[in-house]
Amino acid sequence: MPGNLPSIADLLKRRKEAQTAQPAAAVETANVEVAEEPEGELIVDVPTEQKISGDVETQGMLTEKMGAIKLREKEEETARLAASIGVPYISLKGFPISPEAIVLLSEEQAAQMKAICFLSTGAELRLGAVDPTAQAIVDLAFDLGERHKTNAVIYAISEESFKQGLRLYSMLPKITQAVKGVQITEADLAKYQDQMKDVGAIANILNKANVTDVMAVIIAASVQLGSSDIHIEAEETGIVVRFRVDGMLQEIAKLEPAKWQKIINRIKLIASLKLNISDQAQDGRFTIFQKNKEIDVRTSTIPTAYGESVVMRLLNPDSISLAFEELGFRTLMLKKLNHEIEKPNGMIITTGPTGSGKTTTLYAILKRLNTKDVKIITLEDPIEYKVEGLNQSQIDTSKDYTFAKGLRSILRQDPDIVMVGEIRDIETAEIAIQASLTGHLMLSTIHTNDAAGAIPRFLSMGVKPYLLAPAMNAIMGQRLLRKLCPACKKEIVVDADTMKDVKALVEAIPENSGEVKPDLATAKFFGPVGCDKCNNAGYKGRIGAYELLVRDADLEKMITESSSITEYQMREVATRQGMVSMAQDGVLKAVDGVTSLEEVKRIVGFSR
Ligand SMILES: [Zn+2]
Repeated sequence: MPGNLPSIADLLKRRKEAQTAQPAAAVETANVEVAEEPEGELIVDVPTEQKISGDVETQGMLTEKMGAIKLREKEEETARLAASIGVPYISLKGFPISPEAIVLLSEEQAAQMKAICFLSTGAELRLGAVDPTAQAIVDLAFDLGERHKTNAVIYAISEESFKQGLRLYSMLPKITQAVKGVQITEADLAKYQDQMKDVGAIANILNKANVTDVMAVIIAASVQLGSSDIHIEAEETGIVVRFRVDGMLQEIAKLEPAKWQKIINRIKLIASLKLNISDQAQDGRFTIFQKNKEIDVRTSTIPTAYGESVVMRLLNPDSISLAFEELGFRTLMLKKLNHEIEKPNGMIITTGPTGSGKTTTLYAILKRLNTKDVKIITLEDPIEYKVEGLNQSQIDTSKDYTFAKGLRSILRQDPDIVMVGEIRDIETAEIAIQASLTGHLMLSTIHTNDAAGAIPRFLSMGVKPYLLAPAMNAIMGQRLLRKLCPACKKEIVVDADTMKDVKALVEAIPENSGEVKPDLATAKFFGPVGCDKCNNAGYKGRIGAYELLVRDADLEKMITESSSITEYQMREVATRQGMVSMAQDGVLKAVDGVTSLEEVKRIVGFSR
């Protein structure tokens, strides 16, 4: 980058030349000369916002002189204040600020923090601030130093210096700002790992750490525990920090309420949120950089009674790195699904509530299909994970790039396989169906409880049955079950009521499913205990409970011939074709000792 950019002095010169070429009336800025130079500072012409009108020249000069004296007084006052608090002072008037230095802060950030990055050499970075002792500034300097692997020094500057620095932004060529992020090195993680034996230890470290470390520890601990979300909430008696691990929220620590302002400022800083806004919801994003991995973190804040509530979602690429075969499909279902995804056209739909892992399943299918000879395009809201080799596009309703419009554009890009994040309106549904009938494999999700609910949902949107029937290849229902920690699980005795439900489910497994029904009289069941390895949860990691309904002649006939179909009718068709339900799949996984019956009951229920 250096060498390509003109220096600020060049830019100023060019600007001045441009101005002299214009008629006087059009000149908006004037060049002010100060009679005496502040000690040790280089003076060049710096534009101010004073207006000049050629006809009152004498008066204008007087005003200028007066203004200059006032400015000098203000500078002297800033210098005195700086000296009294032991912070170095600088006047940026005429200081040669390089574009490389100034862009280290975005214009928005500079304006918000009243700070200017005015010098950046390899060894040192200097940050001028109107309020050099503010915690946010101290944090900012620390952050800049960390990110650029250098020492960042804070200088006191006057309001006028700040304004001058800020004006330089408008003269800069547009430069993309360095990616916002938090660097966590392997060494940092190792250091924290040693100390973070369990949740109690994390709470201990957090209570002793300073604010900068608090956020680093929270982030490192959440990565370490494999959590998907960090919740930080201001309450009357303290700040509650909770992690979601394997779908369950877990309290990690409670911190003193006095730390709130500093913690929330730090979060807003790293996530590029507005520091001075706490009465509105805000959304931002930052990246955790690790040696071989980057984790995007979506951050949102909402105002609450005692401050704000912050939720950070960690989009950890590890959580979608599962291979298709490792998702937990039973052998027969895997065979069926493989058969469906290898078809060149048609629609495959996954169903389930938010957090049931349906998008993860689609990513796994896409990764499996992702070869050089096919073109895959996705349309997502938002793009959660970047997958190499996929053309991922994000809907933007503010620009009228909706699922329906996006899908239309995508189909003009000659794809073989298309994934649409969710089908929730008739327009999108119709285009998706059309596409799957014209030689595309279409993957999507629909928000229903189970596979049986999908067809009735499509029909209630207004989709034509005779188009839907030939388009729909397969519908999957799914939930995520926590896996028992293999290190501490123990055999349990199942109570009579539970056993009755389990028996009913096992007996209802269709004869033509190909599954061997387990002998419940001799089956062993396990329950959670808790140990070091599972952070005392008794569970570690998750596995899907699935059901897969595929199109057969029976289903196609039913869809085409009836004007409305109930979920009950769908379940009958499913049983006839030998579908194992999610609850049955869950029970079979409990029989295998992978999960517990109580988890299956909690997540899927024993009803069918
Ligand atoms: Zn354990």
